[in-house]
Amino acid sequence: FAVLRRDDPEIAAVLVDEVVRQRDTLQLIASESFTSPAVLAALGSTLANKYAEGYPGERYYGGCAQVDRAERLAVERARELFTAEHANVQPHSGAAANLAAYAALAEPGDVVLAMGLPYGGHLTHGSRANFSGKWFHPVSYRVSPETEEIDYDEVRDLALAHRPKLIICGATSYPRLIDFARFREIADEAGAYLMVDAAHFIGLVAGRAVPSPVPYADVVTATTHKALRGPRGGMILCRGELAQRIDKAVFPFAQGGPMMHAIAAKAVAFREASTAEFRGYANQTVRNARALAAGLAAEGMRPVTGGTDTHLAVLDLRELGVTGLEAETRCARVGIALTKNAIPFDPLRPSVGSGIRIGTPSVTSQGMREDEMGRIARVIGRAVRDETAGVAAEVAEIVGAFPPYPLDTEMPEDSALAW
Ligand code: PLP
Repeated sequence: FAVLRRDDPEIAAVLVDEVVRQRDTLQLIASESFTSPAVLAALGSTLANKYAEGYPGERYYGGCAQVDRAERLAVERARELFTAEHANVQPHSGAAANLAAYAALAEPGDVVLAMGLPYGGHLTHGSRANFSGKWFHPVSYRVSPETEEIDYDEVRDLALAHRPKLIICGATSYPRLIDFARFREIADEAGAYLMVDAAHFIGLVAGRAVPSPVPYADVVTATTHKALRGPRGGMILCRGELAQRIDKAVFPFAQGGPMMHAIAAKAVAFREASTAEFRGYANQTVRNARALAAGLAAEGMRPVTGGTDTHLAVLDLRELGVTGLEAETRCARVGIALTKNAIPFDPLRPSVGSGIRIGTPSVTSQGMREDEMGRIARVIGRAVRDETAGVAAEVAEIVGAFPPYPLDTEMPEDSALAW
């Protein structure tokens, strides 16, 4: 870091300010967590210099012996961690993994059945603004207006009526477990491939806190950041018979050279995720999300679906007369980072939203437990109601007791953590 500060003080200042922001404010973004210093070290390594188009042992560049070792380790560790027959660790992101999965399993114009964006689906699940909605024929399922959970009978009816080539489950803001066996049955009945987009919950799968989609899906796509606590990136798991199609769809169809520093960092994260300590973190993340949802319910925010089985909860703020956007802004003012979110059948436009989404991977990585969740729920309640007095100080006190990284690697600015 000292070198960076000498050579580029402007960027060095950004890095320092971001460490301070992450340390001194409360991180409740459901798709974030804190990666380990080991993952960050692999990311900031000279593997970033290396071109390695192709796959281990079959590269289009010379000098790949070392990066081949890194990628083989990443693949082996991913296969073992998720009991998968095949793993591709090259996708640059979750969206890139989804593009490759579509390319492997469907042709442009084919029908794809997935959860609609307003109900918790992702842009890559058929949004008109995305390749998935422009190049494919999207059909969306919703959630039940009564339970706000997936209505499997509706999914089956849509699948039998539209005969999709591909059915997708897995979402961005769905707090409940998904019945993968039921989706498998529906896909088999409709003659469709089943893709599970596990981006949000793959970390919980790794930590054995929720059931794995791998035995049921033809293809599982995921991100390696979020609750899994690896580098920003994507991966694809699949059965052996689809391995070649998936590999060709990632490279050369969707991507060029893989990011070998990120792949090495993925290998580090997979190793970390196979430990008992990680299983403790994943299970505590779910317990914390339940406790936080219950605490927020006591503050007048209704948990969509009544609660959560995962790392996230969506809260309906209509009873408080506050929009999602107002809540996000008010929380930001006192040092709480969370996101506005649409609730199912939201009367407001998505850029405003009637709800917020919170997630507990970051605070759980910091070591917080149910007691802190009760306290956090109360400060969020006060912030959302715009009772500002003393709230920022209490947020600072909560996070001050749980530094995300060991103090001896933190400030002063020259330390390893101010990358
Ligand atoms: N799939 C789902 C369900 C997601 O929630 C996300 C990101 O939020 C993605 C895919 C895309 O991941 P990325 O942002 O890495 O492209």
